Formats: sequence, structure tokens, C-alpha cells
Amino acid sequence: MSIARTPTLPLVVALLLLGGCPRNPATGSRQLSLVSEEQEIELGQQAAAQVEQQVGLYSDPAVQKYVSAVGKELAARSERPKLPWSFRVLDDPSPNAFALPGGQIFITRGLMTYLVSEAELAAVLGHEIGHVTAKHSVDMISRTQLAELAFGVGTVLEPGLAKFGGLAGGGLQLLFLKFSRDDENQADVLGLRYLGRSGYAAQGMPNLLATLGRQSALEPKGRLPTWLSTHPSEADRVERTQELIRKEGVDPAAGKVEREGYLARIDGMAFGEDPRNGYFTGQTFVQPQLRISVEVPQGWKAQNLAATMAALSPDQDAAFELQVAGQVTLEQAAQQFAASGVQTSQARGATVNGLPALVMEFTASTDSGELQGSATFIRQAERTFALFTYAGAERLARYADVFSQTVASFRPVSDPALLEVQPARVKIARVAQPTTLEQFNAARPSSVDLQRLAVLNQVEPQTQLVPGAAIKRVVGGTAARGG
Ligand SMILES: [Zn+2]
Repeated sequence: MSIARTPTLPLVVALLLLGGCPRNPATGSRQLSLVSEEQEIELGQQAAAQVEQQVGLYSDPAVQKYVSAVGKELAARSERPKLPWSFRVLDDPSPNAFALPGGQIFITRGLMTYLVSEAELAAVLGHEIGHVTAKHSVDMISRTQLAELAFGVGTVLEPGLAKFGGLAGGGLQLLFLKFSRDDENQADVLGLRYLGRSGYAAQGMPNLLATLGRQSALEPKGRLPTWLSTHPSEADRVERTQELIRKEGVDPAAGKVEREGYLARIDGMAFGEDPRNGYFTGQTFVQPQLRISVEVPQGWKAQNLAATMAALSPDQDAAFELQVAGQVTLEQAAQQFAASGVQTSQARGATVNGLPALVMEFTASTDSGELQGSATFIRQAERTFALFTYAGAERLARYADVFSQTVASFRPVSDPALLEVQPARVKIARVAQPTTLEQFNAARPSSVDLQRLAVLNQVEPQTQLVPGAAIKRVVGGTAARGG
């Protein structure tokens, strides 16, 4: 959850109310008659706005500008140079990249920290450009999927509150299309083509794939980054892309690599979760920039997204969300909520831990049935916060106590130990004398283990490092764990 968001509805309710896409007036069903290029662009832009809101952009204009420039250069040499291409870096620690229809391409800062050259960055972007130029996102997916994509609702459109689990599982996944293996292979081929046309070393592609393979092996099972779980295995792709490069008769090392330049660009980039966007310590969710905390009920699964912190009951039949309503008064926040398409009761005054508050009950009729709950608006410092607690109408009574305890746990935070948190960061260091990575790390330890450091640098722990070589370290980070 970050500072500058202006949500008005619980995220899930908003998505359910929005529905998939405009109803066809003739049939009353939600469908698209045809996907023209205009529609493709529009759908992509809508979905991209959703991604930006749910995940948040990495707040470093220089990095954004850099990635955009590399991407646009590649796209200008593609078969669809006139699309309104957009390349953005998401503030997400998991290594991921994806393309939305119409040329909307995203890469996470998490993926960027694992790359060691501009050629690899170009390989990622080239692959994603390939999905767009080959119109995979338009041709392959069904109309329904496209509709879901447009609004980022994913499985939420299916009946049953249990499907909220999909949402709590993370915004990104919902927006990610599962392309077929053939599509992935084609995107690799196209990516290589754009790399070549822009003068980058083809080796960027197999290097990138090999690194992602090593990176995924470090992660606990079941926590595979999306980019990997939806793509064919890296080992296959490494081989296949090398085969392709051989067949083309291209020298894989010839062309721009831009290792030093790339590493300079990511020097200082946040690594892993950024606790400044909110973190969990035990059952407590702390948002240090907003200086507030709230207790998540025992056993609930909580997810900290850009626009909201959402928690889901173990039976997936009740939810709790915390949002910033912004610099509006309690009354304004309540009015906005009442005008947002849900049925609301009269607001009544209350206090939460001594803070002024307004409480409203609400009912939302959605495709998934009737949702009922309450919205509590709380004033703290210059901001109004919104806490939503809700469940299927018939389940509401079961959660009355849990809901009231959760709302009552909202409080201001002033403890510096909780407020002064920083993410770990990638720092670029120079090797002074001949040494292995292991020796280098023993002398100047990173805050990640040696295995991960080796993957980050695309070497082995025993690899001899050349004096003068730029090496990534990971430094800092606080004990607080990000959500
Ligand atoms: Zn792909």
C-alpha cells in the first residue's frame, strides 16, 4: 500500500461492479464483437492503467526513461512500429515481465536486478514485443479472457466468493496471459530478430534465460515467478535459442552488450520487498510512510498491493481491506463511497483508538452474489483511511467479532524502529585484485547468501573475478520483512 492512491471502493467490489466489458446491447452478454487494432490498443491501455494502480511503478524516473528508450528503439524496428508502445518498470520484487495488447509492456525491478547487461534487458523487451507484434494476446485468447484482461478481474468473474482467493494471490497474476508454448517460442524468435536489428549481441537471450532458470531454482517450491511458471522451461529455451542463433549464422557475442552501462543504471535499485510500501511483522501490518498499523486476523492470508492491503479469511469467504481515501474529510470520503454504486446506510460517528471515524454498512450486488459489510473511515493526521470488512450476505454474522476487532486495531505508529525501514539495494562494486566471488563476498558480505549473489552476477561462487570488473552486491535492508 503506498501513499498516493485514490481508491473509493474495496478493490474486489470495484472489480465485480465494473464487470468484464460493456454488455452487448443486443444479446445482453458481455462480449466484444471484434478486436480491431483500435480496440486492442484501448484494452491494453485500460489493463495497463489497472496494473499501474494495483502494482505501482518503480519511482525512479531515470530508470523508467532508460527502459522506455531501450524498448522504443527495439519496437521501432518491429513490424508494428506505429503502435503507441509503452515500457514501464513496476515496483515489484519478483522477476517478471509481460506484454498487454497494443504494445503495453512491463518489466519488474525484480527482474532488472537479475540482469547484467543492456543486451539482456533488450532480450526481455524484445520477447515481449514479439508477443505484441505476433498478436498473441489478441489472437489466442478468447473474448472472455480479453474482457477479463481489460479490467484485471481474472477469475473473480466466476461465481462464488471463494474466487477472491485469486485476487488475494496477487494482482499481477490476474493480468498475465498464459501463452502457448508455440507462442513463447515465436516470441523468442522475434525477440532475437529485434535484438539483431538493434545491434545487440544475440547472447543476451540465452544468458537471460539461463539466469532465470538459476534464479527460479533458488525460490521455494510453489513460489515460482509468474514469468517462469507460464513459460516453457528455461533449459529448453536456452538450447533452442542457441540453436536458432547458430542456424542464423550469427556470432552470439557480436554486437552491443553494454554491461557496464547497464550495471551503472541499476546501481542503488531496491532489491526484494520494499518495507516502505508496508510490511507485516507477525499479525501486524505497518505502513511506515503513512505511520499507521492494523492487525490482520489470525490465519488470514494478507497481501499488500499498491492501492490496498487486503486480507482473506482461511475459508475465503470474508475479506478485509485497508486503503487511503486521501486528503479528503471523513464526510467527503463517506459521500464518495455512497456515490460509488453500492447501497449504503447512513454514516454514523464513531471513534477508533481515539481517532474520529464514520461508519457505514454497505451492500453490493455483484455477479458473485450479494456482498455485505461495513466501511469505516478514520481520520489520522491529514489523511482519511478506509477500512472495509465484508463477506457474502449469509456469512456476515459469523465474522462480526473478527471484523470489529480488526477495525479496532487500527492505530497511529510513532515507534522509530517500525518507521525507519529501508529496502536492501543493489550496489555495484569493483574487484580490486584477483579473487573468487566467494572470497570477495567473505571480505565484503552481501545481505543475500552466496548462491543468490552468484546468480545475480551470472557466475559461480568459485569463478575467478578479473580485477576492475564490476560486481553486484546487495546491501542494507532492515529486519522488517515486506509483505
Ligand atoms: Zn512470453
